[in-house]
This record gives sequence, structure tokens and C-alpha cells, in this order.
Amino acid sequence: MATYKIKKPARTFGDQAYLPAIAKGLAQTFGRLYTNLLGPEDQKKTATVRYPDETREYPERFRGVHRLTHRADGSPRCVACLCCSTACPAQCIYIEPAEYEEGDAQHGYERYPKVFVIDELRCIFCGYCVEACPCDAIRMDTGVHVPASHQREHFIFDKETLLSIPGRDGTYVTANPRHEPGDASHPGIDRAKGH
Ligand code: SF4
Ligand code: SF4
Repeated sequence: MATYKIKKPARTFGDQAYLPAIAKGLAQTFGRLYTNLLGPEDQKKTATVRYPDETREYPERFRGVHRLTHRADGSPRCVACLCCSTACPAQCIYIEPAEYEEGDAQHGYERYPKVFVIDELRCIFCGYCVEACPCDAIRMDTGVHVPASHQREHFIFDKETLLSIPGRDGTYVTANPRHEPGDASHPGIDRAKGH
């Protein structure tokens, strides 16, 4: 079986001693440190930002943290169908559906979320919840990330928090308005009547 001898690269004494390379590296490091600490502003080349006091500008396609959209009267557009929580791979959405009161125009027509919570620490920001929603009730178009905090409870967004966050364009309402019960345009579909 043939054997091969790997030829050693020709190195000078300076290469072998590593000292010139170390000196060059240190000069680069301290030169950059000096410029970044004491040099003119336009020559500073700091690669990091002082997060959370400073943040980088996000790309236009950045989605951002969730929000719940509103109906015209300010109530959640969500009908508590649980499609989003079912689709969520991180299982970080918790919803408690409730029925509208007897006598309410929406009683027997659709439900509302009594509790709607998203654990933003468990969320992987996949957007499946937004895709799954049949009502345009949940969106990730806020353009902001979850504010930094040391406390876990600050990352548990409840219904009121989710409703209070506007979209990037400053709006809260859904782009998918429905014919609400009581509207002249409402077709009269009623869950109680078996439709
Ligand atoms: S973005 Fe993905 S992980 Fe986060 S809540 Fe929606 S479905 Fe769950
Ligand atoms: S946000 Fe949309 S998908 Fe989730 S429960 Fe409400 S209506 Fe259903």
C-alpha cells in the first residue's frame, strides 16, 4: 500500500514564532478599540448596538409581535374557533371560548374569546396562527418585537394587551368585516337553528 508524505509548508522564523502575527492582531484590536472609544464619530465601526436602548432598523418584511384585530365597535374580531391554537406548533396560544348572553344579537351565531393568551416566549414566530385564522382576527403586522424584560409574566400577552397593539399602519380594525347579526345585510344564519 502506497504511503504519502505531506510536504511541510515553508515557514520563516517569524511565522514559526507567531509573535509578528500576534502583534499585528493586537494592533488591529487596540486600533479599533481606540477609534471606537475616542475617535471621530464618522470613523467608528462598532458592530454591536446597545440593545434594548438602541435597536436596528428592521426590514420591511419583518412581521412583528401578534395583535388581535377589532370589529367596528372595538370588540375582538375573534370568534374563538380555536383554529389558531390548534395550528400552533409551539402550543403557546390559550383560548377560553364563551357564548354571548341570551338576548344578544350574536347569541347562537358565534362565540367570543373570554380568555385569549399568547406566551410570546414560547412562540417561534412561524405565523401559522395568522394563516389558520378564518376571520383575519389575529395578525403579525405590528413591526415591533416583544419589549425586553427580566420578568416572565411580561411575555404573557393577554386579550387586552393583544387588542391594544396597532398594526404597522396604526389601524386596529380587521380587513375582513362580517355581516354582523342585526345588520340589514345579515343573511340570518343562526347556529341555534342548525345552519
Ligand atoms: S406564530 Fe407560530 S408559534 Fe407563534 S403563536 Fe402563532 S402559530 Fe404559535
Ligand atoms: S384568532 Fe382566529 S383562528 Fe384564533 S380563535 Fe380567533 S377566530 Fe379562531
